[in-house]
Amino acid sequence: KSKENFLLPAHYESCIKSILISHGQILDRIQKLAYDIRRHYKGTTIHLLCVLKGGSAFFQDLQVCLRNFHNFTNQDYVPFTFDFIRAKSYDGTSSTGKVVVSGCDMEKLRGKDVLLVEDIVDTGTTMSMLVPLLVEHGPASVKVASLLEKRTPRSCGFKADFVGFSVPDEFVIGYCLDYNDAFRDMNHICVINDEGIEKFKDGVKQRIDE
Ligand code: 5GP
Ligand code: MG
Ligand code: MG
Repeated sequence: KSKENFLLPAHYESCIKSILISHGQILDRIQKLAYDIRRHYKGTTIHLLCVLKGGSAFFQDLQVCLRNFHNFTNQDYVPFTFDFIRAKSYDGTSSTGKVVVSGCDMEKLRGKDVLLVEDIVDTGTTMSMLVPLLVEHGPASVKVASLLEKRTPRSCGFKADFVGFSVPDEFVIGYCLDYNDAFRDMNHICVINDEGIEKFKDGVKQRIDE
């Protein structure tokens, strides 16, 4: 998509190679994902488990859609509860190969239909480690909803149950996906360029005029 046709935050504009998925497209896709998820879980309560921090925008918009279904009809009403979990595997633009999990009381998952809400499945390392870890704590089921799935030869073969978009093998940012915590505050999902890699290699500065 042409950068000229979309608003980008001024502090990121020169750091973007291309806009991959516009914010409007993301919201439209999430609406259909919510519909599919509701159909799948009909008759049960979903326990959404948001994978921080990257999955948080997707989680927020997904739960808005699920909540709005309650307005239309009581017949297909799908109640949900939620919690957060922290998983960290990336350093800059590359995977470290190990996953550090924190911030979740796993004992509370017992008997629940857990739906992990994740930003992107790249190599699949994070999810193929996290899912079995959760299963050990006796949930009724564990499934994964990932907004993005990367087409990469480095995939370990893990497949999410609900996928928003398939993206090319590039480092993507925006809509809470970060590069050293930068770009989370951008609506569209974009591909970073060399200038962006350089500018935010040490993270986000406190003062933007520096
Ligand atoms: P995986 O373990 O599947 O290789 O990667 C999982 C995690 O790495 C994702 O949840 C995400 O946080 C991070 N990640 C992977 N690819 C990208 C990317 O292209 N952009 C960003 N910002 N994060 C990524
Ligand atoms: Mg993630
Ligand atoms: Mg990250």
